[in-house]
Amino acid sequence: MYILYLLLVVVLVFVIHSILPTYYNKIFNRSVVKSTGQDNKIMLTFDDGPDERYIHDLLDLLDENGVKATFFMVAENAHKNREIVDKIMAAGHRVGLHSWQHKNAMLYSYSYTRQDFENSARIMRDLGVEELLYRPPWGHTNIFSNHFVRKYGMKMIYWDVMAEDWEAKASPESIRQKLLDRTSPTSIICLHDAGENSGGAKGAPKNTIEGLRLAIPELKDKGYDFILP
Ligand SMILES: [Zn+2]
Repeated sequence: MYILYLLLVVVLVFVIHSILPTYYNKIFNRSVVKSTGQDNKIMLTFDDGPDERYIHDLLDLLDENGVKATFFMVAENAHKNREIVDKIMAAGHRVGLHSWQHKNAMLYSYSYTRQDFENSARIMRDLGVEELLYRPPWGHTNIFSNHFVRKYGMKMIYWDVMAEDWEAKASPESIRQKLLDRTSPTSIICLHDAGENSGGAKGAPKNTIEGLRLAIPELKDKGYDFILP
């Protein structure tokens, strides 16, 4: 019987600590940006980088198409790749934050959450990022996350379109098709320009880049402009 009570307490704590804050932010929190709110203006965003193996090809592709994008970086990766961060910003793209180490906030305590935000904010400011745009990994947050979002003046930006570009079975064509099927006139598209350390398949960003090479002209033909936050 005790085991049952214990189990019930654990489940309740998890619901209050993790599930409710995550769904509150995903569904109800009006300060979380989930669409551009402007007709035919869409955003292209990339999570998990930077990764030197892919970023240069991706930046070339964006440049060839005259598209500006937002890169939600893992702060530890950004810290190790300062020149890449500089190159991205110099090309007119935005740099946002995708947590310190890409851990799942639902599973972490107050003290890790505090460290996560403190270290991230320090690293991003050190890199010259002024306005802190924040996208938590998987959109997962815990009961302490929003306190730190406010403390560091961060703006949370989620997404409404993904293309499962991290999967081993993804191909340029599958990514292209999903982007065209799922993008609406106010969409925020979330793709991945890195991610082997955060659940993505080996080499997946190559498919992402080739999928985008196909999709960007078609999205433009539909009348969509790519904007920054
Ligand atoms: Zn991620």
